[in-house]
Order: sequence, then structure tokens, then C-alpha cells
Amino acid sequence: MKRVVVVGGGISGLATAYRIVSGCEARGIPLALTLLEGEPRLGGKIVTERRDGFTVEGGPNGFLDGKPETLRLAHDLGLGEHLLPSSDAARRRFVFRHGALHALPESPPAFFRSHLLSLPGRLRILAEPFIRPAPPDLDESLAEFGTRRLGAEAVDALLDPMVSGVYAGDPRKLSVWACFPRIKELERDYGSLIRALLTLQRERRKALASGAAPAAAPGGGGPAGPSGKLTSFAAGTEVLVERLREVLGERVRVGAAARAVTANRGGASGRYRVVLGNGEVLDADAVALAVPAYATAELLAELAPVASTAAREIGYAPAAVVALGFERSAVRHPLDGFGFLIPRTEGRRILGSLWTSSIYPGHRAPEGRVLLRTIVGGARNPEIAGLPPDDLVEVVRGELRSILGIDAPVVFREVFQWPVAIPQYNVGHRERVRRVDEAVAPHPGLVITGNAYRGVGINDCTRDSERAATQIIGSIQPGAV
Ligand SMILES: Cc1cc2nc3c(=O)[nH]c(=O)nc-3n(C[C@H](O)[C@H](O)[C@H](O)COP(=O)(O)OP(=O)(O)OC[C@H]3O[C@@H](n4cnc5c(N)ncnc54)[C@H](O)[C@@H]3O)c2cc1C
Repeated sequence: MKRVVVVGGGISGLATAYRIVSGCEARGIPLALTLLEGEPRLGGKIVTERRDGFTVEGGPNGFLDGKPETLRLAHDLGLGEHLLPSSDAARRRFVFRHGALHALPESPPAFFRSHLLSLPGRLRILAEPFIRPAPPDLDESLAEFGTRRLGAEAVDALLDPMVSGVYAGDPRKLSVWACFPRIKELERDYGSLIRALLTLQRERRKALASGAAPAAAPGGGGPAGPSGKLTSFAAGTEVLVERLREVLGERVRVGAAARAVTANRGGASGRYRVVLGNGEVLDADAVALAVPAYATAELLAELAPVASTAAREIGYAPAAVVALGFERSAVRHPLDGFGFLIPRTEGRRILGSLWTSSIYPGHRAPEGRVLLRTIVGGARNPEIAGLPPDDLVEVVRGELRSILGIDAPVVFREVFQWPVAIPQYNVGHRERVRRVDEAVAPHPGLVITGNAYRGVGINDCTRDSERAATQIIGSIQPGAV
């Protein structure tokens, strides 16, 4: 019987545990797996509250269907029929700039007609193909990359809100290489982003004409940006967590924080010992750590001090999600889209607001009501994320009044606060991850996963959990994978 301990009950740990269990079952490997979650509830950043007819997300409101891993997980778990794609209207995204909402243009001609950027700002983007590419291994910030290729205004008006929406981060610190590797690849391979876009579009049209390509990329995303349609479950993203818990059953222990992972020098009872907060010790042949980087740093302080130091250098931004419900009839704004993000140059106190009941119509707010989720804090305004909930609601109401003209009474409210919300892949991130990987490599069966290293989206977590599970199975049964 092989013993495996997975530490962390967010989507990364749950998916890793599930893939190890199903992989071992398929190969006939006898397995005793334990998943340890420190908090009383599972799910980590995934949390869905269902109350008064509202279904509200405290963390992610879905994943993009342009990548296969989360969809595959949902189907493997028998959740296919519960999947809920976002509405077509949710393709319309807005940026609030110079006191007005601007729809993000969806095509190059629409972009040049749009007033989101000034005319010089738009013309500067046209110069992009003439800018020489940087050396491919140059680790520059998103702001440096964007200013170099597209101009300072494009960074302020486009890149800054885009990275707020994903990382709640600061483009002057985030690494383009770590956050958006595809963009770096396009620069390397085509010498220019615009040239890449045009070439890929042309190739796609050719392939279409010859019948060699599907009619549209899943969700219709562009070649450089995140592609796919935002997708969740009818009863909320936490459905994934609930189902994983059901399938893993008694293997899951909540309220059971790990304190350290050490080497088991005795050997006979497995390579590792996982020490719990209450002093209990679990012997294990393999261990997967699917906890935030600072928790990995604690757990590995003795066993792999170099990995511990590198993991500790990965910082986090705080965020708060303020969900407010209103009577539809009391809101004049049509809320006809996904919502809006705000560049930092606007000096507002929120990062943006998502029109949840328009994204998933009929599934997030009761008939006749609307639900908005406003994101506050991030690397931009970290102190606001920690305000008392009543103050947060007041901040958000003030901003929604001023931006959308919503002055109606609140009929529903829920505040979620994440003091350490999203890992920041700042310049040097890939180097830090390399140091973690190298320091862990000499410890067979010890695997690090989670959103702190190779992507912060749910899709990144589920993809990496497949890698982690394959590595664990290979370590307990060499030649099995
Ligand atoms: C506000 C917000 C909105 C987001 N929106 C989206 C979105 O729309 N789409 C998307 O794809 N992604 C989104 N994300 C990102 C996504 O939610 C996360 O990247 C993902 O859920 C992280 O999963 P994880 O399992 O790696 O980490 P976590 O969810 O952080 O889970 C780690 C778990 O480890 C546990 N733990 C920590 N230390 C220990 C210990 N010592 N012992 C045992 N357990 C421990 C924690 O309690 C936690 O449950 C969002 C994130 C936030 C915060």
C-alpha cells in the first residue's frame, strides 16, 4: 500500500488528489491517500454563497473554456450537464476612462474608431511592427514591455486594467514573461504583435478555406490574449469543490493544517513525515504541496531550505469582493455586458465591477433583481481591501453611484475579504520558480503545485494538478506513467 499526502484543499490540491486516486485505480496501484486542509472548509479561494435567491462568488466566477483541463475535470466528475457558459452579452467588456465607460473594441477597425485611446495613442500602436523585438530572455515588466511596443497610453488604458482583472497587480512590477508568456513568444516568433495577429488570422482563414480548422477558436478569443468563454456551473463554481469532496470522501480531512514536511530517515515507513499542527505525524511515500507559496515556505523550511527561501519571495496582493444586489427596476444602466475595469490613472477606489447577473442570466440573481460584484484593493490599493465590511460597502456604493448612476437601495450584500488573494508574478518570478523546482528535484515524490508558480487561473491549477499527479504516481510506482 502506497501512502500519499496532499496538503491543501483548494482546487489545486483537490484536483491533484483526484487525479492521483483515479490514476492509481486505473493502474491497480494500492493507495492510501490523505488530503489535509487547514481550514474548516474546503475550496480555498473558490467559495459560493447561495442566499435569498442569489448565487454569489467570493472568488472566481468561472474558468475559460478555451483550455481543456477544467472542462475535462468537470466531465470526468460527471458534471458536464451542470456546466454553465456565460451569455454572449458578456463578451462586451468596458473600460472606465476619462469619466466614461468605453466598450473594449473587438476588432482592429473598431479599435481605431473607439475613443478609448487618444488619436496619438492609437497611431502609436500602429508603429508597433517597426519596433525591434527585445532579446527573448529579457525579463521585463508588463509596463516596460507595453510602453516599448505599444506606447505609454496603451499601458495606462489597456494593459493596466487587464492585469487588474487577472492579477489585481501592478504592471510596473509584474513580469510579462511569467504572466503572459504567449505574448513574449509572439514577439520572439513574429517580431511584432500586430504582425503575429495578422499572420495568424491569415493562416486561420486559409485553414478554414481548406476545411482544416474549426469554424472558430473556442470562445472566439484572439491569439495573444486569454481565449475562451467564461464558464461556471449553474449552482456556482463551488460545485466543482463539492463534487471533488464527494468523490474523495473519507480521504479528506478539514481543520487539519500541516506544520512541516521532513525526511523519514527510517525509510521503511515511507520517505516523508508530514507533521500536523496538533503534533500528529503521517508517514508518506509521496507528498504534494498545493498550498500558497508562503505556506510552502513554512512546510519546507527544514527539508528544502533553498526552495523555502525562493517560495517565500513570491508575494501576494490582497483583494475584497463586494457583492451588491439591487431591484432591476431601480437601476437605469442596462448592465449590458461583462462589467468594467478601471485604469489606475483614473484614481478611483475600486478596480472594477462585474455584472454577474448579466454574465449568467437567470442563475445568479432572482427574477427582477441584479447582482454586481465589485473588486477592491489589489496591489494598487492594498489598504482598502482590509476596511471593515460596512466601509467597503460604502466605498463601492459611492463608486457605483458615480460611475453607473446606481443610487438604489441595496437588497442583498455579501463581502468577501482575502488578505492574501492572488500571487504576484513579479519580474524574476520564473527564476524563483526555477529555484524552487531545482531545490525540490532531489526529493523524489515531493511535488509542489498550486497557483503560485505556473499560472493563477483555475485552468492553470487544474493543468498543473495533472502534472503533479503524474509525477507522484511515477515516483511511487516507477514505470507506471
Ligand atoms: C477574488 C478572486 C477572483 C478570482 N477570479 C478568478 C476567475 O474568475 N477565474 C479564474 O480562473 N481564477 C480566478 N481566481 C484565481 C483562482 O481562484 C485561484 O488561483 C485558485 O482558486 C487557487 O487555487 P489553489 O488551490 O492553488 O489555492 P487556494 O485556493 O489558495 O488553496 C490553498 C489551500 O491550502 C490551504 N492551506 C494553506 N496552508 C495550509 C497548511 N499548512 N495545511 C493545510 N492546508 C493549508 C488553504 O486553507 C487553502 O484552502 C480568482 C481569485 C480571487 C482571490
